[in-house]
Amino acid sequence: TKFVYAFSEGSKDQKDLLGGKGANLAEMANLGLPVPPGFIISTEACRAYLAEGREPDALAAEVAEHLAALEKTMGKALGQPDDPLLVSVRSGAKFSMPGMMETVLNIGLNDESVHGLAARAGDERFAYDSYRRLLTMFGKTVLGMEGHLFEDEMDARKAQRGSTSDLDLTAEDYRELVTTYQRLIKEHTGAEFPQDPREQLDLAVRAVFDSWNTERAVLYRRQERIPSDLGTAVSVVAMVFGNVGQDSGTGVAFTRDPASGAQGVYGDYLQNAQGEDVVAGIRNTVPLADLERIDKPAYDDLMRIMETLEGHYQDLCDIEFTVERGKLWMLQTRIGKRTAEAAFRIATQLVDQGLIDMDEAVRRVNGAQLAQLMFPRFDSDAERTLLATGMNASPGAAVGKAVFDSTTAVEWAERGHDVILVRRETNPDDLKGMVAAKGILTSRGGKTSHAAVVARGMGRTCVCGADALDVDVKNKRFTSLDGVRVEEGDVISIDGTTGEVFAGEVPVVDSLVVRHFEGDETAEGDELVLAVERVMAHADESRRLGVRANADTPEDAARARRFGAQGIGLCRTEHMFLGDRKALVEHLIIAESEQEQEEALSALLPLQRSDFIGILEAMDGLPVTIRLIDPPLHEFLPDYTDLSVQVAMEDDHDRRDSKHHKLLDAVRRLHEQNPMLGLRGVRLGIVIPGLFKMQARAILEATAERKKAGGDPQPEIMIPLVAAVQELELVKADIVQVAAAVEDETGVDLDFKVGTMIELPRAVMAAGEIAEAAEFFSFGTNDLTQMTWGFSRDDVEASFFGRYLEKGIFGVSPFETLDRDGVGQLVRIAVERGRATRPDLHLGVCGEHGGDPDSIHFFDDAGLDYVSCSPFRVPVARLEAGRATS
Ligand code: ADP
Ligand code: MG
Ligand code: MG
Repeated sequence: TKFVYAFSEGSKDQKDLLGGKGANLAEMANLGLPVPPGFIISTEACRAYLAEGREPDALAAEVAEHLAALEKTMGKALGQPDDPLLVSVRSGAKFSMPGMMETVLNIGLNDESVHGLAARAGDERFAYDSYRRLLTMFGKTVLGMEGHLFEDEMDARKAQRGSTSDLDLTAEDYRELVTTYQRLIKEHTGAEFPQDPREQLDLAVRAVFDSWNTERAVLYRRQERIPSDLGTAVSVVAMVFGNVGQDSGTGVAFTRDPASGAQGVYGDYLQNAQGEDVVAGIRNTVPLADLERIDKPAYDDLMRIMETLEGHYQDLCDIEFTVERGKLWMLQTRIGKRTAEAAFRIATQLVDQGLIDMDEAVRRVNGAQLAQLMFPRFDSDAERTLLATGMNASPGAAVGKAVFDSTTAVEWAERGHDVILVRRETNPDDLKGMVAAKGILTSRGGKTSHAAVVARGMGRTCVCGADALDVDVKNKRFTSLDGVRVEEGDVISIDGTTGEVFAGEVPVVDSLVVRHFEGDETAEGDELVLAVERVMAHADESRRLGVRANADTPEDAARARRFGAQGIGLCRTEHMFLGDRKALVEHLIIAESEQEQEEALSALLPLQRSDFIGILEAMDGLPVTIRLIDPPLHEFLPDYTDLSVQVAMEDDHDRRDSKHHKLLDAVRRLHEQNPMLGLRGVRLGIVIPGLFKMQARAILEATAERKKAGGDPQPEIMIPLVAAVQELELVKADIVQVAAAVEDETGVDLDFKVGTMIELPRAVMAAGEIAEAAEFFSFGTNDLTQMTWGFSRDDVEASFFGRYLEKGIFGVSPFETLDRDGVGQLVRIAVERGRATRPDLHLGVCGEHGGDPDSIHFFDDAGLDYVSCSPFRVPVARLEAGRATS
């Protein structure tokens, strides 16, 4: 294998091999842009080094060969005493890992060549400034010394000069710093700073390889789900100098605003500076626009190049550049990160500029970004006191009183307070508090910490790893870096979208995009809303998958429809048994004769019927899939202990006949060790046939009534938890009988479908037979995931998922994103077998995965007809379904 590549051999499409930085340097060089010459050591060399613990044999010779070529181009040798070539040694992996890995500048300087550099530039101060920078970076990166050792000396020098600016340091200061730094290096490593330029180069390359596996790099990759075995490439680039006086400088720029997407001149510039100075905040930078005044020709060059880059990459680029005595040099470019808002704006702007088409625009945004735009936000115009910025672990804007333990969180929440649970880190014992809280804030842990994983699972706002906060759980308070103290009960605001933590209550505003979806006319005409609308319209045109909503009430159904739902994929009926109706369900359960049972059922019938009328009306003309009752009946009964107490307090003689007594009996009778696998779903329908028949009657009477009123109801009756076709056949026969009766009674012809959920592995295997009785399948991927993995979702997410994620057993919870290799295979099998029996079998999914971007792409690929998700996710699903085909 070849390990080293010339810029002319590379291109932007070779990020795997050359790293993002190297690939784009090659691309720019080949575009004819002013890039200092150099070469790239591949990620393959890094992988070989990491595997073997030493550089591959061929590497040294290849580096020598490319170095010789570079020296020839530059007309000088690395570290040449009278006129040294200096190089930078730069890390750069396939995925950008900002600030994670290392770069060393000014390689090639030593006690001799520093004189040569000074003489050539006619500037001794510049030469020693460059040398002390090399010693600092080499000391930190290659020799593993603490940065503050060097910074403290620098600060002491400035203090001696009575200044805080490096500009006031003289050549003399820098020369003395160089001496001091060399002494520090000797003290701390026992060896002299290497004077041999080639040795410097080799050690720096090795240090960059090693930086792939620093703790923070490992952690960052885990958080960002970047594979750990990619390795980094190393770019070796001839130095250009922004620190040779006021006519030089260095800067960063974006081709447009990464926050809003607006076109214009965005960036920062710093005169007489090198490398990281711009972002390190050593001095105040000036806005990029000022470069026009400082150095018009360089500015014009830069503007021209930025236009070239945008045209070439057809996207927002971010850029690093340096001006050396009036000459502009490009040091880096890449497709720039951007906010969700900017992503939509930029995508449509690029279409208008003719750079990309609408298909590409749809690919350039994603559902996660759209979801971000739909969360309520803190009003950025309001006055806010920022306490810290942590990780944006789970989006949303939450305001509440700070509490520091789970028990208090639960108590205060029960008393009606909004609370934010603040912990150093959370563990499974905190779960109750997390459920009770509006938001969760931790000072430790990353995006896969317990707090983050659980919060995302529950849709709770969460900021984690805000390590600037000193959380003192024992004394129930935390302190910010600036010394602001927040005690238990003080109100704070946390922004899970940005990771910001604010003191006090920050006002919340509804998202403009949601207001638009809701039909609020004041949101029309806004540029962002227009951009979102255009992208959504194209996604709708392109997608093959239908998108329905999970909705149980007419209000939810109406909202889902406004959000673009094409029907209801899951209408749960169990909530229709709660509230005031609980008493009726209790009657049903404790009924002692068939007659009592029937009385209880007929009391429920009109209530259910009116529920269905409302929903069918809200979704008139669109399919409404109604699932018959699924949960075990004891979920509708009072708590065992409460009941026992009540029974104990009643007089002896009326005890036996009391309702409480009968209920207590029922609770005992219905108790199950493992209700998830107990008497629920279709099993209830078979044990208490009257229950399903009543529900079917309510649905069909509602349908008849809607038809009479001139509507177009399209009910689909769905049977849960079917494992065998016989179960479905039994229930279906009852439904058909009820339908015939209702048709007779009302004189209305009824159109409806009967289908089943596929949520048990057995149902998957028997899908061919089940399809003989089912007109549609709806994959209940929540249960299917539970049943396939043998995980109880209510128990495992808090107890061991954190560990599983940490160990990489899965990269993301299988309840969040469909497990393609296991559960996904079952879906494919059921699709194939079901369609083999009934080619027009209609297929959908109604588990939570129906709103998850990655899962939606899978369902599209598996050939389902629609996904169904919560009303709020409907736009996200529409967009992702469009992206799946664009
Ligand atoms: P990072 O990945 O952290 O941005 P870089 O490799 O881009 O690290 O380098 C750090 C800084 O040094 C950047 O500001 C970059 O522009 C600057 N730099 C890198 N190589 C050179 C060079 N050959 N000449 C001048 N400046 C350089
Ligand atoms: Mg850089
Ligand atoms: Mg289920």
